[in-house]
Amino acid sequence: MLNIIEGIQCIDGRTNEPFILRAHLLTWTGDVPALSKSLNLSGHNSYKGCRFCMIKGTCHPSNKHIYYPSSALCNIRNHDDTINMGKLIEEETNKDRKDEVIRETGMIS
Ligand SMILES: [Zn+2]
Repeated sequence: MLNIIEGIQCIDGRTNEPFILRAHLLTWTGDVPALSKSLNLSGHNSYKGCRFCMIKGTCHPSNKHIYYPSSALCNIRNHDDTINMGKLIEEETNKDRKDEVIRETGMIS
């Protein structure tokens, strides 16, 4: 198992000397479905499908797709927001209320 703090033993291919490799994830990317899954978002067609802000979409009555108003000014979704929304979902024991919180936050547990 990779231990980020202690690192792992490696060999420098150029010098053949051993060294401890400590790797840190700085960023990642992917398409919207992959990022939604890795960030525990409920998807790009959810009411709060933006991973950067708290914009709320509206459901089109005929095709049931979610559309987002282009003129809306929204609060940025920060780390604490994400943690607190995750806690709300995890702590909710009533299934109907939990589903409602998932819809409201755009996150899954
Ligand atoms: Zn946004």
